[in-house]
Amino acid sequence: AKRVQRIDTKVDKMRMRRKDTNTLKVKENVFDDATLKILYTVSNKGILNAIGGSISTGKEANVFLGEGKDGDIAVKIYRISSSTFRSMEEYILGDPRFRNVRHAKKDIIFAWTKKEHRNLTRAKEAGVRVPEPVHAERNVLMMEFLGEEGKAYPLLKDVNLDPEDAKLIFDTVIRYVELLYVKANLVHGDLSEYNIIVNPRTMEPIFIDMGQSVTLEHPKAREFLMRDIENILRFFKRYGIKEQAEDIYSSMKEIKQK
Ligand code: ATP
Ligand code: MN
Repeated sequence: AKRVQRIDTKVDKMRMRRKDTNTLKVKENVFDDATLKILYTVSNKGILNAIGGSISTGKEANVFLGEGKDGDIAVKIYRISSSTFRSMEEYILGDPRFRNVRHAKKDIIFAWTKKEHRNLTRAKEAGVRVPEPVHAERNVLMMEFLGEEGKAYPLLKDVNLDPEDAKLIFDTVIRYVELLYVKANLVHGDLSEYNIIVNPRTMEPIFIDMGQSVTLEHPKAREFLMRDIENILRFFKRYGIKEQAEDIYSSMKEIKQK
């Protein structure tokens, strides 16, 4: 009961602190009664002790800093209302792991959240650096917080790179795409400088946002893979990296077939 209260007070405090009406509106959108209930549930399970400031307000989800059992965690909350979840159906339909998903929007969002948790686990097992998944409950995903002292690490798009760092990051990113494809049977599906976090001290890239990642059985898996590779090449072109997407794909396919 103590923990529940803590979340309660935190939520209240946060609402009071934010005078900005726009932010307030977003908050109220996120913490509807159903979501609050889920926060209480994970609080009772001892997974989340408190919820803090907003890290990101996206089109489909909001990410908050949270206090977990052993320190900071990231809490990604998919909005049940006001989302563009039509595009989600495109990814979930055709994925054999989700054949029984009812078409209700809510269920799709819950399945999506679970799928992101599972994709992170698979990626991690394949050796790809991703935020360690902690727990998924309904539309709430908790994972390792990538940052320091409550401040999230920057996205790749916001990091100043010298050509050497750029080449190292590029090589690692391509290796991760290959590990996903060869070992995890997965395609990220939305890979770009917007979904890669960089640890600014070690310059280590970390893949995030894997809700839309699909297995290779998905009819569009190859299309998504090519698009991922092309996005990465487009970003790194400015650093003088000029490889061909087709070459990268062929070499991955060859490794896969061995
Ligand atoms: P958007 O609609 O803005 O693209 P999204 O639904 O794609 O949001 P994510 O890309 O997973 O959601 O996360 C949004 C932002 O939150 C990221 O760009 C990143 O800045 C931050 N973020 C996500 N996960 C973490 C994490 N584990 N640790 C720290 N920050 C994170
Ligand atoms: Mn994203």
